[in-house]
Amino acid sequence: MKKKFDTIIIGGGFGGLNAAIKLGQKKKEVLIIDKSNHHLFQPLLYQVATAGLSPADIATPIREILKKYPSVSVIMDEVQKINKETSTIETSSEHKFEFNNLIIATGARHSYFGNDQWESLAPGLKSLSDALKIRENILKSYELSELETDQSKIDALTTFVIVGAGPTGVEMAGAIAEIATKTLTKNFSNIDPRRSKVYLVEGGDRVLSAFHPKLSERTKKDLEKIGVTVLLKSFVKDISEEGVTIGDNFIPARNVVWAAGNKANPILKELNCELDKMGRAIVEKDCSIKGHSNIFVIGDASAFQNGNTFLPGLAPVAAQQGKYVARLIKNNTPKGKRDNFKYLDKGTMATIGKSKAVMQVGHFKMAGFFAWLSWCLIHLLFLVLFRNRVFIFFDWLYSYITEQRGARLIK
Ligand SMILES: Cc1cc2nc3c(=O)[nH]c(=O)nc-3n(C[C@H](O)[C@H](O)[C@H](O)COP(=O)(O)OP(=O)(O)OC[C@H]3O[C@@H](n4cnc5c(N)ncnc54)[C@H](O)[C@@H]3O)c2cc1C
Repeated sequence: MKKKFDTIIIGGGFGGLNAAIKLGQKKKEVLIIDKSNHHLFQPLLYQVATAGLSPADIATPIREILKKYPSVSVIMDEVQKINKETSTIETSSEHKFEFNNLIIATGARHSYFGNDQWESLAPGLKSLSDALKIRENILKSYELSELETDQSKIDALTTFVIVGAGPTGVEMAGAIAEIATKTLTKNFSNIDPRRSKVYLVEGGDRVLSAFHPKLSERTKKDLEKIGVTVLLKSFVKDISEEGVTIGDNFIPARNVVWAAGNKANPILKELNCELDKMGRAIVEKDCSIKGHSNIFVIGDASAFQNGNTFLPGLAPVAAQQGKYVARLIKNNTPKGKRDNFKYLDKGTMATIGKSKAVMQVGHFKMAGFFAWLSWCLIHLLFLVLFRNRVFIFFDWLYSYITEQRGARLIK
């Protein structure tokens, strides 16, 4: 393997992959490094966590996606050191590479707001292993309840608490409620899964706070209709193996999912640049860091000021920034001549359960079946490979007709 590349990209998520494709199309010499061998379609991760899809449906080998671009090399390794002054990076397998341009697209992890001891009790949802762990916890709880005779233990095993009512929390809560009330009915002889309880806990005064208040209200009602108890203005004080303490109330629950906060990858500290309170690199209008016009930070790893706020951690933000910096690199545009990155907001959406979703594009708002249908179509279109689109389409069709979830295998 060569040791010097024109451009090195760290991370093969939405940001890194889009940059690599754009540079590969122009036959630019690129090395892309990711600690996993696949690009993960995170927006559908909750469906793996709730047994609706299999891991391979939403994860594609990065090599497979980039095989059309011979000027792009791919390695699976974890970058551990970045040296701005020598323009080099080092990986965990002690390989050192030199770059002319560096794109950092390392995404984000969950933040427990100083309570890292909760991580093992309340897993978050960012990677395939997180999703598989949550799926195993959910399905195993029902298996354990079937063997139990003590009703209070059965109740704790079949109570689910999801912390954080952003899109991931809402989607998880809706899907778990559907597992309990639809998928698992008639599967057990000792317990009735329909007696399960699902709580969605939110510190703010509404769910989906990034959406219009009317859509938040509609989402709350839709969740309640399918059996989710929504607790607003409620803060988690403690999480233990027995359950969750919210304010002065204790909810016995053996399944807690964390969907409440994000922090950036610690590798950014290596840059010695200004970070925001989530640990993201504060970038300039061309996505580069101050004083280093050849080092770009994009996607969830970056804090890009947009008016009075920062751009949200969304896949289109990362993808558009990836394409934008690739264009700057391809054209070798000097710092003074770069146009500012402009995010084109094509809208946001969240699904609540079968046939229910909300979407918002500018001032246009929609909820219900047609929003859900649009959600399905848009997510299918955004999947990288045709194979994934076909598999997921048929999985969804099967689930829609039968109310079943095909990926329920645990060991
Ligand atoms: C559960 C969930 C649901 C979501 N739903 C939506 C949605 O519906 N719509 C939407 O727009 N957005 C959604 N998002 C957000 C969206 O997925 C992110 O904004 C997007 O993935 C950010 O892209 P990125 O390229 O910055 O990072 P990522 O896609 O997270 O990619 C980061 C990559 O960097 C790699 N990496 C990290 N550190 C290193 C290292 N040191 N060395 C090598 N490789 C490294 C990782 O393995 C990973 O592949 C969701 C996110 C989650 C977690």
